Amino acid sequence: MNLPTYSLQELSRRNGQTMAEIWVGYKGMIYDVTSSELFKDGKHYFHDTGKDLTFEMKDAPHLDDVMAKFPIVGKLAGSEQIENHFSNANIHVETTPFIRLLERNKISADTYHLTFQKPVGFHFSAGQYLKFHVSIGNVEHKRSYSICSATNQSTIEFVVQLKNGGIVSEQLCLYAQIGDVIPISGPFGNFPIVESAQKELFFICTDVGIGPIRSMLLEISEKQMNFSKVHLIYGNRTKGDVLFENEWVKMQRTYPTFTYHSVFSRENFLLPFENAGYVHEVYTRLINDPKNCEFFVVGWDRMVHETKQNLLNLGVDKDTIFVQLYI
Ligand SMILES: Cc1cc2nc3c(=O)[nH]c(=O)nc-3n(C[C@H](O)[C@H](O)[C@H](O)COP(=O)(O)OP(=O)(O)OC[C@H]3O[C@@H](n4cnc5c(N)ncnc54)[C@H](O)[C@@H]3O)c2cc1C
Repeated sequence: MNLPTYSLQELSRRNGQTMAEIWVGYKGMIYDVTSSELFKDGKHYFHDTGKDLTFEMKDAPHLDDVMAKFPIVGKLAGSEQIENHFSNANIHVETTPFIRLLERNKISADTYHLTFQKPVGFHFSAGQYLKFHVSIGNVEHKRSYSICSATNQSTIEFVVQLKNGGIVSEQLCLYAQIGDVIPISGPFGNFPIVESAQKELFFICTDVGIGPIRSMLLEISEKQMNFSKVHLIYGNRTKGDVLFENEWVKMQRTYPTFTYHSVFSRENFLLPFENAGYVHEVYTRLINDPKNCEFFVVGWDRMVHETKQNLLNLGVDKDTIFVQLYI
């Protein structure tokens, strides 16, 4: 069947109030439910029409059979990726879950901030990551991306560095359209944070390594968790590369034990509280009592390995070093 494709925005206009037709999205398809008593007032229980209901109504009994009674009028934009999982009306639910892109902003020379709709029933812990499954031709490419948002939001956010020639980062940063769905797996990883007034926490990262650390900092600052000190040591080449700087500056005012240490390897003009060089010089200077500290280290290969080795040389217990290595 050669069906027209509609975006989420186009679907949203057919909600029973703005137009006579009432449509809903379900498993990549758009159904005309105008004739239905169930959707008559623009709602079915708590579910609005003019929306993609795949995940909202995933627990509804017999829904596949119910939807099969309505005519399919089109495809939802971005559904190509999930066509292999859903085949028209008599669909069987065995799904790779997916997330829908809502917004994308370029936030530094090579980094994009992506916001996705959080599927109903999806939960994660601060610091975890997802795998994105991107199909090009017949080949599926899986890459990991750390969630950078708070656990209690209705959206999930990521910061992705665009790699020239990088298969998945180019898809996410340049080619994916708003409304597209991307199959995922996860969440994966574990960054355990146990509250203790005696403990000093060190979050050490460079460029997009801030992602899972942002999620953790949002969590512990919102809950005002009690630690003797919390340090963010965040390394970048220049000031233009720093992500979410306003949040770190604000957090210093709202979360009393928190300190933001910015570090720049290629910046000519530094203020007195900014650091030149690499993250290593900063944590080395700050550690007083290695036995009462915990370390969360995130980023690319070299920085993570060097940091881990330096911490061990400083007498830090290996069980108190938690890393997320971007490879
Ligand atoms: C746990 C975890 C969490 C992560 N979280 C994040 C995150 O939050 N944000 C983020 O940006 N990244 C993150 N990453 C990294 C991410 O998973 C990808 O590795 C990264 O985006 C590159 O994937 P890609 O498909 O774009 O590049 P790939 O296609 O895998 O290529 C990788 C690099 O090799 C180069 N390359 C590819 N082909 C060639 C070739 N033929 N010749 C020469 N060079 C070539 C590319 O230019 C690119 O620089 C994370 C990784 C892990 C393991």
